[in-house]
Amino acid sequence: MIIISKKKHNISRNKISKNAIKILLRLHKSGYEAYLVGGGVRDLIIGNQPKDFDLATNATPLEIQKLFKNCRLIGKRFQIAHILFKKETIEVSTFRGHNNKKNIKKKIYKKKERLGILLRDNVFGQIEEDAERRDLTINTLYFNIIDLSIRDYVGGIKDIKKKIIRLIGDPETRYREDPVRMLRVIRFSVQLKMTIEKNTKKAIPKLSKLILHVPSARLYNELNKLLQNGFGYQAYQKLKKFCLLKKIFSFPLLNYNKKINLLINTLISYVLKNNDQRFKKKKKINPAFLWSAILWYPYFINTIKIKNKKKINYKEASNISLKFILKKASFKLSIPKQIIYSIKEIWKKTNFITYNSKKILFKIKKNKKFFEAYNLYILKKKVEKNRNLKKIILK
Ligand code: ATP
Ligand code: MG
Repeated sequence: MIIISKKKHNISRNKISKNAIKILLRLHKSGYEAYLVGGGVRDLIIGNQPKDFDLATNATPLEIQKLFKNCRLIGKRFQIAHILFKKETIEVSTFRGHNNKKNIKKKIYKKKERLGILLRDNVFGQIEEDAERRDLTINTLYFNIIDLSIRDYVGGIKDIKKKIIRLIGDPETRYREDPVRMLRVIRFSVQLKMTIEKNTKKAIPKLSKLILHVPSARLYNELNKLLQNGFGYQAYQKLKKFCLLKKIFSFPLLNYNKKINLLINTLISYVLKNNDQRFKKKKKINPAFLWSAILWYPYFINTIKIKNKKKINYKEASNISLKFILKKASFKLSIPKQIIYSIKEIWKKTNFITYNSKKILFKIKKNKKFFEAYNLYILKKKVEKNRNLKKIILK
């Protein structure tokens, strides 16, 4: 472990949330160890504004709760304290120790153990163990509010300087414990413009199918962080490159042949580029827009299939198709209800634009309620401008 003294780094106290400082000081006053850790320290060293401030301490969740009235304990496997303030929530986690296998039901353990999935997380430990349990070296720096020094257990400072994304420990073991780490590696490499260390990188394509073991709600959250934060297009390309894309989007992508996948991929790429531009300009983005585009062609192609098979009109077929595709998607990806509702609205309006006279286009262009539908219409038209792609649809 090395200690970087106050003089040797650029983190100043006034960049840190006042609420986080208050919590750290109260924990110290009560005799506990407490540090600012994770993305907060990483981003301050890099010179970015942290998204949130995470704290780590040797106080147990119940001890934390006793010190703060505005505290809620969350999580089953590993309890974490959330300290709630008007404008922010600060996450305080107790140092994690290594897992012990004793208390786990043998049968369940055996099955999951074979897959290498981390089963038991709620073991408290020392700061050294906590450091080993974290994901990346750059996320494992502990900032001490009392003397403003940083503790570096795994070479995080050096990796930040060299712009390297490196998993702590043996990559294969760490990905098996928690496959979401593959997505985090990709996210940080794109978000922070850093290079992925050789072994950290090599293990991803090999273990990509483990991503299927991630609960769908967690996957949905991670995907939004990855695709809807201003670097979606690049992240999408990396998901493809590391063989993760087809696993994650097994639905819709695996249901179709190469040509249709090309259609789906082209539309998604256009929407991601469009969203990234809007994000840079700090414009509002409806999170449902991307999902409406990801699922547009599966929905559309299915509509045409139903229309032909049942010999009914487009509108009737569309209603059946819409329900079917959204049910399937919300099951596979845990898309929240309000997003599903929004996708339906976008699709209905996109159909309205597509199947009405060109005259209405001018009016709709300026109508805020049609904003996403109009954009989807324009982008899919751009996709279909390519003659070869258009042929695929008309078949
Ligand atoms: P950001 O908040 O900017 O997205 P972050 O690194 O702070 O990035 P959080 O999800 O807030 O990400 O997690 C806080 C810290 O918890 C991380 O920096 C890391 O040390 C640890 N952590 C998060 N997810 C994992 C994981 N899957 N495995 C191991 N450690 C993790
Ligand atoms: Mg964070």
